[in-house]
Amino acid sequence: MFSYRHGFHAGNHADVLKHMVLVAVLKHLQAKPTAITVVDTHAGAGLYRLDSDFAGTSGEAQDGIVKLLASPLAAEPPPLLADYLAMVAGFNPSGRNKVYPGSPFVTGSMLRQEPRDRLWLFELHPTDSKALLGHVDQLATKRQVGVKREDGFEGLRALIPPPSRRGLVLIDPSYEIKNDYAKVAHCVQESLKKFATGTYMVWYPVIPRPEAHELPRRLKTLANQAGKPWLHAALNIGLPAHEPGEQAGRPGLTASGVFLVNPPHTLKAALQETLPPLVEVLGRGRGQGHTLESS
Ligand code: SAM
Repeated sequence: MFSYRHGFHAGNHADVLKHMVLVAVLKHLQAKPTAITVVDTHAGAGLYRLDSDFAGTSGEAQDGIVKLLASPLAAEPPPLLADYLAMVAGFNPSGRNKVYPGSPFVTGSMLRQEPRDRLWLFELHPTDSKALLGHVDQLATKRQVGVKREDGFEGLRALIPPPSRRGLVLIDPSYEIKNDYAKVAHCVQESLKKFATGTYMVWYPVIPRPEAHELPRRLKTLANQAGKPWLHAALNIGLPAHEPGEQAGRPGLTASGVFLVNPPHTLKAALQETLPPLVEVLGRGRGQGHTLESS
């Protein structure tokens, strides 16, 4: 079974990029009065505490949301970042940042009652799927949310196209299994045949593994072949600095990307304005930077 637990990574730089883009996509889809359906194929536990053992052990949020919130950029954020930070602040009404929302809660907190948006969540890990069920029960929109302890790649097929033909498929595996890269590409390719107008958002880690490097290229090719617009953004926080003579520690994940098919047409300009200052704040040194490209 899987050993990956998102609690160790909640609020890290990869979550900042992914959830900031997720908020932007949802806002764009909700600009029209038609109901939307969101399918989150790899949901995680849904809600995380930044003072938990998980987060404390990894310290990853310190290089992500915690660092961002303590920076001058948080006081004067560009609009994309402002929306994301307002969403996170909504879970921390006391002003102390103890709670971090995973993608089920980012989306769950944004669902509209009228029109009635829907959210489907898939999570296979026995502990995290149980936690997810309990967390979803706290959502004001819980009646619009379905939770399934099933394979998200498989379960997605039965849910698309949604009745309104308007929605988002978020594909965010842990890539513990090498095969996940191929599954992601296959899933997007097949799903586009059934739900061509849907927006697809794939998260992936930038790691020294051929499948990881290949994934955005494969996605570009299949989006181009399907005649669909795409957008690719990656955030690299670089390697941490260390004193001369000091042993370099394990840097952890330094970069990740999101690849969107049928992205909001306003997203590239918004990211153009946001990614450079975000890199300035979260960047640790050597190799820091960003990628932003589109069809
Ligand atoms: N999307 C979440 C967020 O942004 O808060 C994080 C998800 S985490 C990166 C990936 C999750 O997928 C893990 O909790 C893992 O247990 C789960 N998982 C792995 N394979 C799966 C599959 N085939 N179907 C559904 N869930 C799966």
